[in-house]
Amino acid sequence: MPGRLLVFLLLLLLPGPAAWSEEVSPRFVLIIDDIGDNLELGKAAVTLPGPLTYAVLPHSPFGKHLAELANEQGKGVMLHAPMANTQNFPLGPGGLYLTQSQDELKDTLRAGLDSVPHARGLNNHMGSLLTQNRRPMTWVMEVIQERNLFFVDSKTTALSVAGRVAREHQVPFLIRDVFLDHEITEAFIHQQFELAIRVAQEKGSVVVIGHPYRETVDYLRSNLSRLDELGIQQLTVSAMLHQEQVFERIIELEGLAGVRCRSASESECGPVAKVLLKDKKD
Ligand SMILES: [Zn+2]
Repeated sequence: MPGRLLVFLLLLLLPGPAAWSEEVSPRFVLIIDDIGDNLELGKAAVTLPGPLTYAVLPHSPFGKHLAELANEQGKGVMLHAPMANTQNFPLGPGGLYLTQSQDELKDTLRAGLDSVPHARGLNNHMGSLLTQNRRPMTWVMEVIQERNLFFVDSKTTALSVAGRVAREHQVPFLIRDVFLDHEITEAFIHQQFELAIRVAQEKGSVVVIGHPYRETVDYLRSNLSRLDELGIQQLTVSAMLHQEQVFERIIELEGLAGVRCRSASESECGPVAKVLLKDKKD
């Protein structure tokens, strides 16, 4: 991290964390999943304005092309790794299953990552079964570690241990807060977008996942500018995690480690800045 930036942030920190918190706008991370199977909708999603992150399916017909396009537009790119689910929905190419050996799972994941240019991390596609299981999630985190990537838990089950395993492996990670479009209607997407704004304002940040549906893309094209009007900062996953690391370092240097994880469960205490911002409101 550049020293000058750190000094600047330390100056912001004075005279205390509350003063510094006021300088940090609510932050909004928007991920579009399931990129790669549909070229037209993929392109429409990738050309949405602002720093979005695109989760690309491995070995998908248009995944490489759309990942390149997203990268050219300055967007974030990650692998959307298909993981076993409790309903036995088919995973398609690059799927990770409970029945795989360590070598099989790791090689499948590595090949998936190789199929998505510019991938800086991964999140789970489905995964309500695999993410409950510590052993395969440990193997996933080991591959992430060897490649210096990040992880986003799409949180498709409340029983997911993925965040906990990521933390244990010192893998930078985020957890999804809001799904934008599990009902594909404008009214539902609007309701979820409003919810995401409230979460960002109350907790300091929000991680939102949407899909390349026509309704979602149209809604976002008309409404993303509202974030700016509300003073909410949009960030890619990488930029968000970089900020978190800077915040963590400041807290370490200032001996504020005690404020960490105070208001969240021990396993997933989440980003430090969230806690600081929350503290300010309490
Ligand atoms: Zn998905």
